[in-house]
Amino acid sequence: MEVENCNICDTLEPFRQFFTRKKPMVPMLEKILIIEDEPSIADNILYALSTEGFEARWCASGTEGMAVLAADGISLVILDVGLPDINGFELARAIRKISMVPIIFVTARSSEIDRVVGLEIGGDDYVVKPFSPRELTARVRAVLRRTSGKLPEAHDVRPVSSPFLVDEVRYIVSFMNLPLELSRYEFRLLRVLVQNPGRVFTRTQLMEKAWDEPDMSLERTVDTHIKTIRRKLQAITAGEEWIVTHRGIGYSLKERP
Ligand code: CA
Repeated sequence: MEVENCNICDTLEPFRQFFTRKKPMVPMLEKILIIEDEPSIADNILYALSTEGFEARWCASGTEGMAVLAADGISLVILDVGLPDINGFELARAIRKISMVPIIFVTARSSEIDRVVGLEIGGDDYVVKPFSPRELTARVRAVLRRTSGKLPEAHDVRPVSSPFLVDEVRYIVSFMNLPLELSRYEFRLLRVLVQNPGRVFTRTQLMEKAWDEPDMSLERTVDTHIKTIRRKLQAITAGEEWIVTHRGIGYSLKERP
């Protein structure tokens, strides 16, 4: 975690506004829900998020958190693993039944978090207590950037002729009006391609756009996922190849003539 070990950054932080390049781009009024039973920690997170331009809400229990999540337009959930009424992992499972909202786990012990368990449940990232509020907001920003689908080079308007439709809210890509059964990374990969038809992406670029920790995964993983996406598309339109392989470069989505 580069942020944590960056002493010089901490020293310079109060003066950042005087030499900073640009204020970080934060989408307007992204609502962040904090589910955390320790008021002092929640306070710190609330303060950090509000100074970074987010709108933050705090709930001290899982039950309360679920109610807010169901009612409000929440963009991301910061979820404490140790809650008084429910285990955070259990709550995440419950959340996943109704929503694909990004989740960042907050945990007291790093051993508590197993990346595999986190991925299975559908968490997007985690921080270990004690953490700096700055580290957390950086992670919030990164997760939102990754999951928002608002890639800078993406087309704003989907071509009318495209057989693909991305439902950002439900994390579903439909092809020929049929929802595809995709894993998380298949969804993220296909979304990148669909939003940029014809554009060739290298495996590295795809990794960076679709993976949580791109440099920790093998680029071959991209090939594996592309293969399964192709199989799923082939099941709908046999014989037609929608994802084009560019030898030695990467992949692109075929543009309709
Ligand atoms: Ca707790």
